[in-house]
Amino acid sequence: MATLLIVEDNPANLKLARVVLQQAGHAVLEAMDAEAGLAIAREKRPDLILMDIQLPGMDGLSATVELKRDPATAAIPVLALTAHAMMGDEEKIRAAGCDGYLTKPFRYPELLARVAAMLSLPSPLAGEGQGERGAAAKSPPSPQPSPIEGEGASTPLPPRGGGAGGEGE
Ligand code: MN
Repeated sequence: MATLLIVEDNPANLKLARVVLQQAGHAVLEAMDAEAGLAIAREKRPDLILMDIQLPGMDGLSATVELKRDPATAAIPVLALTAHAMMGDEEKIRAAGCDGYLTKPFRYPELLARVAAMLSLPSPLAGEGQGERGAAAKSPPSPQPSPIEGEGASTPLPPRGGGAGGEGE
């Protein structure tokens, strides 16, 4: 079970996400604006934050920048919830430090799949002790990268190709 924080100002979306995630066995924390979300994130250190982009006051991107700037919350993955996937949004979402995004309205299976994938990501600050014990277990750099690397989980944002091709076949 993981603890998730949902920051979403739309009560219907908030409830929907909460019900789905709770039924999947997660503990769910809620905030309806960025300021409350930041406070909860710092106090509770959730395993994952679902961040709506359009919020009253501070928007979700600014909130994510704050989260990633604070060492206390920087390691928490952020899944952006965006209502429209306009050109440029993806870049902005990525630039703000979000680890992925989901376009609303989302479907339950997709929401659960994305959450599960993001929870399985290795967290740079988790597990390893703070001391120097890790140094002993250090292994030499492997000559070849893992073939699985980059498959979905670690690069949730697909690269945006240049040009307007792709139409047709
Ligand atoms: Mn909103």
